[in-house]
Amino acid sequence: MRAMVFEGPGRPLAVTEIAPPTPGEGQLLIQVSACAVCRTDLHIVDGELPEPKSALVPGHEIVGVVVQQGAGADRFAVGDRVGVPWLGWTCGVCTFCRSGRENLCDRARFTGYQLDGGFAEFAVADHRYCFALPAEYPDVEAAPLLCAGLIGYRALRAAGDAKRIGLFGFGAAAHIIAQVALHEGRAIYAFTRPGDAATAAFARGLGAIWTGGSDAAPPEPLDAALIFAPVGALVPAALRAVAKGGTVVCAGIHMSDIPSFPYAELWGERVVRSVANLTRRDAEEFLALAPRVPVRTKTSAYPLERANEALGDLRHGRLEGAAVLVP
Ligand SMILES: [Zn+2]
Ligand SMILES: [Zn+2]
Repeated sequence: MRAMVFEGPGRPLAVTEIAPPTPGEGQLLIQVSACAVCRTDLHIVDGELPEPKSALVPGHEIVGVVVQQGAGADRFAVGDRVGVPWLGWTCGVCTFCRSGRENLCDRARFTGYQLDGGFAEFAVADHRYCFALPAEYPDVEAAPLLCAGLIGYRALRAAGDAKRIGLFGFGAAAHIIAQVALHEGRAIYAFTRPGDAATAAFARGLGAIWTGGSDAAPPEPLDAALIFAPVGALVPAALRAVAKGGTVVCAGIHMSDIPSFPYAELWGERVVRSVANLTRRDAEEFLALAPRVPVRTKTSAYPLERANEALGDLRHGRLEGAAVLVP
C-alpha cells in the first residue's frame, strides 16, 4: 500500500510502498477514506514530541471502512464506516484509567505517534477505540471531527459554563468549537494573528461577536479563553483578557515556553490549565452533539501524496478550517 512515512525530524514525509498492516487480536483493518491533518502531526514532523515510533505513518483523524476483523474485534462489522482518533490504547488498570481519566493513562498509546496512523491506504486500530460516525457527514468532512472536534470539545468543557469565550488561534479546532459554543448560547471572541484579515473574516462568518489581533484587548473581559495556537506568549495575553475567576485553557500538546508575567495577571482566582488527549466518553458525547448543532466543517482536500504540502499550508496559516488527505 502507499503510505506517507516519517523518517526523522526536519525531513519531509516520504511516499513509500509498504506492506498493509495485519489486524491483530482486537484490531480492525480499515481502508482509509480520509485522514485530517492536525498541528500535532507538525509537532511530530518537527521533532517536538519525544520518541515517535520509527518509520511512523502519522495521522490520527482517520475515517475509513472496516475490511477485516482481527480475533474478537466485534464492535464493528466488515463494511462499517468508523472513525479512529488520537487515543489508540490505554491500560485500563492504572489510577487514571480507573477514575474516568484514561486520557492521562501513563501507558496510553496514540494513533499516528506510537501507533501507525492514517496517512496511508490502510490502517489497523483497536476496535474499542473506534467510533461510529454521524451519517450526515461525508468522509472528508467527518475527519476533522476526530481531533480538532474532540480536543476542542474537551477544551470547551474545561471552560465550564463560561458565557464569553475567547479563541486564540482560529484554525481547525476553533472553527468547530465556535459553532458548538454558539449553539450553547455563548459568545465567541476570536483572536487571530495580528493583520490576518482573512482569518478574522472567517471567524466573523461563523458568528464571532468580535475579532481582533492576539495583541488586542477584547471590548469586555471574557469568562474563559481557549488557546489553540502553540505560542506560549498567548498565555499571559489570554490571562489579561479574562475577568476575575476566568479560566485559560491550553489545548495543544506542545507550546513554546510561556514568558514570565506579573502575579497580578493571575490574581483574582484566574486559572490556567491544559487539556491532554481525549477520553472515549468525550468522543461519544461530541460525535452525538455535532450533527445536532449542526457543526459544519470547512475542509481542504489533498491527495495523500501531497501530505507535505498540506503540512506546509497548515504551518504557514494558509488554510481555512482543516486539511484532509484522501488516499
Ligand atoms: Zn490532533
Ligand atoms: Zn491506564
